[in-house]
Amino acid sequence: MVKLTKLIDNSVLVAPGAKSLLRQRATVADDIFPDREAAEAATKENAKAIDALQDALWAEGERALLVVLQGIDTSGKDGTVRAVFNRCGPLGVNVTPFGRPSEEELAHDFLWRIHMAAPKKGVIGVFNRSHYEDVLVVKVRGLAPADVVEARYAQISAFEKHLHDTGTRVLKFMLNISKDEQKQRLQARLDDPEKNWKFNASDLDDRKLWDEYAKAYENALDRCSTDYAPWRVVPADRKWQRNAIVAAVVRKTLEDMAPVYPKPDWKASDFRIE
Ligand code: ATP
Repeated sequence: MVKLTKLIDNSVLVAPGAKSLLRQRATVADDIFPDREAAEAATKENAKAIDALQDALWAEGERALLVVLQGIDTSGKDGTVRAVFNRCGPLGVNVTPFGRPSEEELAHDFLWRIHMAAPKKGVIGVFNRSHYEDVLVVKVRGLAPADVVEARYAQISAFEKHLHDTGTRVLKFMLNISKDEQKQRLQARLDDPEKNWKFNASDLDDRKLWDEYAKAYENALDRCSTDYAPWRVVPADRKWQRNAIVAAVVRKTLEDMAPVYPKPDWKASDFRIE
C-alpha cells in the first residue's frame, strides 16, 4: 500500500510551488494500474477499508476529511463518488454538488456556500465541483472582473489552510480526460437511451472552450497546490484506473490520520443488562 501510494504520488501529485504542467500530463495510468481486474479488486478493497476508517473517524468525532473533485464535463466526478464511497454508510459521507450559484449565493462572497457545505467533525465531505469553479468557469466565461478572479487564488489557499488548521484534511483531485475521450463520452450520451438524460447541449459550448479551460485549470493547479491542500491530477480516460487511484489515496490519507475509537470512561463489568 505504501509503495503503491508512493508510485501514485510520484505520478499524480502537483508538488507545491512547482508547475503542474497539466497539458503535458497523461490521461491514462498504465504505469500505475496496468491490469484492469487487479485495479477493480483494489478499488473494492479500498472502498471497504475507507468505510471502516470513516466509522472510526465518526466515533472519534474530532476531525473531518474533505475530498474535492474537479474535472471538465464527462470527466467522471459522479462515477468516482460511486466507486470510492459506495461502502460507506449514508450518514458518514456528505456529497455536495456545486452548480451555478443562486441569487442568494451570489449575494455573498464566493466561499460562503462552500464553507457552509464543509464537512463537520467525523464526516467525509465530497465536493462535486467546488470553489475552484470561481477561478475556472468564472474566468473562462468572464463572469467576474479579472482582478476579482486574480485575488481568489490567495483567498482559496487561505480558506483551505483555515480548514486544515481547524481539523479538516483537504484532498483535491482533478480528473484529467483527453479531448478525444470527452468526444466519445458525449457521443454516448447522444446515442445511448439510458444516457440521454445526461446530455446537456451547453456541454458542447464548454467543449469549444477546451483550451481556455485547460489554461484556467493549469493556472489553478499551479497556484493552489499546497502542503496543506495538495492537488492531484488523476489520469481519467480509463474509469477503473481513475477509481483505483482516488480510492488508494483516500484510504492512505485516512490511515495517516489514524482515527481512534474513544476509550469509554466505564468498565463493561460495571453494568448488567437484565
Ligand atoms: P455536472 O456537469 O457537474 O455533472 P450538471 O451538468 O448536472 O453537473 P449542475 O450540477 O447543475 O450541472 O451545474 C454544473 C454547472 O454549474 C457547470 O457548468 C459549472 O461550470 C457551473 N458552475 C458551478 N459553479 C459555478 C460558479 N461559481 N459560477 C458559475 N457557474 C458555476
